[in-house]
Amino acid sequence: MKRRLLNLLTLLSLLLCVAACVLWIVSMFQGLGVEWRAPAATRSWGASCLRGEIGLSTTSSDPVPGAAGRLLFYTTVPASPIDSLRTLEGPIARFQFNVLGVAKFQARPGTSRLDAFYFPCWLAIAVNAVLPVRRLLLARRRLTPGHCAKCGYDLRATPGRCPECGTGIEGA
Ligand SMILES: [Zn+2]
Repeated sequence: MKRRLLNLLTLLSLLLCVAACVLWIVSMFQGLGVEWRAPAATRSWGASCLRGEIGLSTTSSDPVPGAAGRLLFYTTVPASPIDSLRTLEGPIARFQFNVLGVAKFQARPGTSRLDAFYFPCWLAIAVNAVLPVRRLLLARRRLTPGHCAKCGYDLRATPGRCPECGTGIEGA
């Protein structure tokens, strides 16, 4: 069960890793975004990728009676959102942090409010590469003599039975 979950997570990570690579490349030429607003809601949620920066944002504003909900896909010029927001910094708008492209921006003009969180594509790739790379290393180790054929654990100190997964080793 645990193993199955790990396999599923590894596959999911691999897909996200590939998706982040594709987004990174595409977003250098074309900014991509999606925004969702519930009917008559005062709040909207957005996700975007521009110049290798992935952004998640929420905005809230005064209620608009009767406003229709919408799901909007849009493309835009591929400008770095973090660089663009820097010019807006002032008393009502500021970065709460901005380290290596991981940034949180907050703006409070009047009664409306914007919260945006950014992280670079390379970070998404690095984080999501952990499980697939681990799997790859284990697969290589399993083929190495002296390692468990099931989980890749080093059996040189404990021949006979794998202490990690309990697999009996033939011929030991
Ligand atoms: Zn094992």
